[in-house]
Amino acid sequence: MTQNRTGDPVKTQNMAIVENIQFIEKEIEGKGVTLVAVSKTKPVEMLMEAYNADFKRFGENYVQELVDKYQQMPKDIEWHFIGHLQSNKVKYIAPFVSLIHSVDSLKLLQEINKQATKNNRVIDCLLQIYIAEEDTKSGMTEEECLEILKAETLPNVRIVGLMGMTTLTDDEVQIRKEFKKLCEFFKELRTQNFQLSTLSMGMSGDYAIAIEEGSTMIRVGSKIFGGRIYN
Ligand SMILES: *Cc1c(COP(=O)(O)O)cnc(C)c1O
Repeated sequence: MTQNRTGDPVKTQNMAIVENIQFIEKEIEGKGVTLVAVSKTKPVEMLMEAYNADFKRFGENYVQELVDKYQQMPKDIEWHFIGHLQSNKVKYIAPFVSLIHSVDSLKLLQEINKQATKNNRVIDCLLQIYIAEEDTKSGMTEEECLEILKAETLPNVRIVGLMGMTTLTDDEVQIRKEFKKLCEFFKELRTQNFQLSTLSMGMSGDYAIAIEEGSTMIRVGSKIFGGRIYN
């Protein structure tokens, strides 16, 4: 077994993963909110801790990493793709992905439809809406989203909702404002009879606010698996 720097087995550290998931599941109980455990950069052993405690819904940002984990892990896992997706990589995840949160263009949606057709599946997608006041986050405008929804005739994709990421800030007022705006748009689309069920918003630092503002799906990484180190 691998050991951490103090020589303690890593396992005792990993037990916290299950506790963290149970804590969050308790918080969202009865609220109609689904938890996606964001496991990007984390090793398969850590995901397996969660899996062995019967938690089977993970979110990943990188195609290669997602494919590697899919191949190594049991096949009854619900895999969510939440990162920026390049059209030329859709083919690698199309055979198994459960929900793509990050559709930011019609071109990407068309490619997902094409690859879903090849795999004889219908792939659920969320349209990522640009809500932040910074231009580093990808997504589409409300107008682009509406255009896609109105024109949408792709038989092998199903647009089931929206996703949004807020400005990277500690300003709770700003974050709440952005979530509120996305939720209002989501509700408005539903009144226009678009069949949308999922509003994916909220991460470790802001999911409580997101839920208050109407989120139905939260994507939580560091609060479950600990901080991430990028190379
Ligand atoms: C990394 C990531 C998350 C999770 O972030 P945490 O702050 O660790 O909870 C959620 N959504 C997206 C799109 C991400 O890239």
